[in-house]
Amino acid sequence: MESEKLALLGGEKVIKTPFEKYNPIGKEEVDAVKEVIESGVLSQFIGGWGADFFGGPKVQEFERNCEKYFGVKHAVTVNSWTSGLVAAVGAIGIEPGDEVIVSPWTMCASATAILHWNAIPVFADIDPDTFNIDPKSVEARITPYTKAIMAVDIFGQSCDIDSLMKIAEKHHLKVITDTAQSPGAEINGKQTGTLAHVGGFSLNYHKHIHTGEGGILVTNDDEIFERLQLIRNHGEAVVGDKGVQNIVNIVGHNFRLGEMECAIGIEQLKKLDYLVKRRQEIAERLTNGLKDLNGIKTPYIASGNTHAYYVYPLVLDLQKLPVSRARIVEALNAEGLSFAEGYQNVHLLPMYQQKIAFGSKGFPWSSDIYHGNVDYSKGICPVAEELHDHSFVSYGLCTHELSDNDVDLMIEAFHKVWQNLNLIK
Ligand SMILES: *Cc1c(COP(=O)(O)O)cnc(C)c1O
Repeated sequence: MESEKLALLGGEKVIKTPFEKYNPIGKEEVDAVKEVIESGVLSQFIGGWGADFFGGPKVQEFERNCEKYFGVKHAVTVNSWTSGLVAAVGAIGIEPGDEVIVSPWTMCASATAILHWNAIPVFADIDPDTFNIDPKSVEARITPYTKAIMAVDIFGQSCDIDSLMKIAEKHHLKVITDTAQSPGAEINGKQTGTLAHVGGFSLNYHKHIHTGEGGILVTNDDEIFERLQLIRNHGEAVVGDKGVQNIVNIVGHNFRLGEMECAIGIEQLKKLDYLVKRRQEIAERLTNGLKDLNGIKTPYIASGNTHAYYVYPLVLDLQKLPVSRARIVEALNAEGLSFAEGYQNVHLLPMYQQKIAFGSKGFPWSSDIYHGNVDYSKGICPVAEELHDHSFVSYGLCTHELSDNDVDLMIEAFHKVWQNLNLIK
């Protein structure tokens, strides 16, 4: 490959025209929304016991389609996956002051959903290869107060759900999976997100498939299913007439998704297989082009898994490279790419560092409902911290729609930068 001058040093960019934006929305969705608008029924939910407690025709059709696609007994739509996570933590019966073990390498809502019920997020470290929560670290964080594990299927690949379910069984814990980034990925032929007590997916604008905002909860447990529906839709006004005995955490919200969003969701779900397959082709092409570069670790896929590549993750082996991550990313992005450095270390957010969430006095950590002593100091998750601070870079594969030629240009940009690393020291 040619060794032209780096764009960072005033040379010409490899990628001269910006890549096309990712957009899974087409005519099918436009027609579906039009039909709903013309019907005049934009939402049919009622926050009381009766047929409309379950929502209108599009809500119910989308939920039944999700049950078929994901291979689960029950699906419940919600107005965001953040709402879904809140509903999930409530539905499994978490008490104020309980501890829930969660990954720090995630979007903040995975942990905030725990705090929402005045329970305590406890962060376990991640596996350096998959970036998912490390079962060994989870076991080490279990205390007498632990009641559940919130595992995240980050970037497009399932967590080690088998090991986590074994730990959960041994310690009588519930498991929630946050599969916002990995719809359509598989683990031993099963859909990821469906093997925990409750799991689910985000439908926000940035994900593989979307309805603008929205989320889907999935479970095979009949009681959790009923409780999710009650938390979604003003359950305290419903339990009496419905004859529900267990009213723990049935503090209902309005987490209802509308008819238009569900009509879009019905069309989006039909496209998911193709959209995931195309991410996989892009990632494989990219990996083939990068795997021989010195000091780069291309994505690892655990045995039995497929990867949906919401994000294409790379780890730099800085001991083999003459320059810092910041310099490398600067040089790549100058060539027309958009790589990001690091990811999340949720435990280091000000809310956890200062233990200030509800009110000004440290509730729930400092209150007498909590008997544990959780630590959020820097250093508790050394793998996640090292990756974030030093060696992790990533590219979003649901931000651009890349042709094979675009991928080849990405590879060319990498080779160009790698040939000139000594010039950007
Ligand atoms: C997107 C995302 C969420 C939040 O989903 P919303 O639908 O935006 O509320 C939660 N967890 C992870 C891992 C996500 O990527």
